Amino acid sequence: MEFQDIVSLNPAVAATPLDERAKLGAQPAVPLASKEMRTPITGFTFAGLSAELAKMGKEKYRAQQIFFWLYRKRVRSFAEMTNVSKEVRAFLEEHYYIPAPTRVSLQVSREDNAQKHLFRLTDERTIETVLMPIKDRLTQCVSSQVGCAMACGFCNTGDMGLMRNLKTHEIVDQVIEVARNYPAEIVQKFGDRITNIVYMGMGEPLHNLQNVLDSIDILTHPHGFNISHRKITVSTSGLVPQMLELGRRSKVNLAVSLNATTDEVRSEIMPINRRYNLKALLDGCRRYELGPGRRITFEYVLLKGLNDSRSDAQRILTLLSGIPSKVNLIPFNPHPASPFQRPELPEVLAFQKYLLDRDLTTTIRISKGPDILAACGQLRSKEALRSKHAERRARESVQ
Ligand code: SAH
Ligand code: SF4
Repeated sequence: MEFQDIVSLNPAVAATPLDERAKLGAQPAVPLASKEMRTPITGFTFAGLSAELAKMGKEKYRAQQIFFWLYRKRVRSFAEMTNVSKEVRAFLEEHYYIPAPTRVSLQVSREDNAQKHLFRLTDERTIETVLMPIKDRLTQCVSSQVGCAMACGFCNTGDMGLMRNLKTHEIVDQVIEVARNYPAEIVQKFGDRITNIVYMGMGEPLHNLQNVLDSIDILTHPHGFNISHRKITVSTSGLVPQMLELGRRSKVNLAVSLNATTDEVRSEIMPINRRYNLKALLDGCRRYELGPGRRITFEYVLLKGLNDSRSDAQRILTLLSGIPSKVNLIPFNPHPASPFQRPELPEVLAFQKYLLDRDLTTTIRISKGPDILAACGQLRSKEALRSKHAERRARESVQ
């Protein structure tokens, strides 16, 4: 199952075969914004923007107007903020700018219309975000870092290492820029806003906690995208202290990548387990401040012959006992150079049935096909690979 490449904004890129595009992406198409002295306005929370305006002697209600234009109308310039006075617009123009990541490519799944957007940031690094229309939900999977430091053995992103954290505005801008380009059929079905956000793209969101929290603040603000906290899920490999902090500071849903039922196997595939082992992780989950009626989602990547046995299913039940939980099984999505294999579908279904029969809500992330799996939670484009090499060259040049 393949994504069909339908749009590339740069005609030179569009006319080039996919394999060649990574090279094209390496050429700066826009001036580097490091020269930009102004501040990206989509990095401010509502409170932050109000404070900025107050500091400059501007009326506080302007923040409400500006949020409306930025997140409801998704304007690209301050000039379009027509109910904001000329004087305030001139002030905004002088101190801030409305950032827009450059879209390098857009691929659409032939199977289900999922859209995979590849964006280039101002420092030439690239990130991906995926829009998934699934039944009555329009879910966007966002990235929180370029690469990831956690080095999980089965994950393509982990293999890249961490290049850097995304800034708050770079997380929010993924949502704005995709919304600016919703195709007509999406708008017709869902209106003009996504219904759900999952922090399951590139990176470990809790390794960039403050920026992730600020981005959530912006996306949930009633004057912003106004997405309910209940519709946002942050997924973690298990950074326990940060996970508990997330629980204290936000009401979003938590997903934990369990992925193994013994410390031996988990440490082998997820190095973070050597710092926070299963006991520490699950004790943390027991202490996590869950709202009434809420449950923690445990993601479980099924790896053939490694963590997919009947004993594993039994141990999941024991490990999760006492935690309001549901399980999301993700049959491993193979990628080049990976030593792991995906179990056959009947084994996946049997694993699910075992848990379901024992009253543990268990879903399988499979129906939407491998192309979505490849897109969400395990991102590593050719461009990302390229930026890994660019990163190395940049490091070498300053040594
Ligand atoms: N870093 C966070 C969020 C991004 S990964 C985390 O690890 O939770 C999102 C999900 O994709 C995780 O549950 C991860 O275990 C899963 N994943 C990563 N690579 C995968 C692969 N090749 N096949 C199936 N699932 C994968
Ligand atoms: Fe990072 Fe998550 Fe991939 Fe692990 S699974 S390397 S934490 S993105």
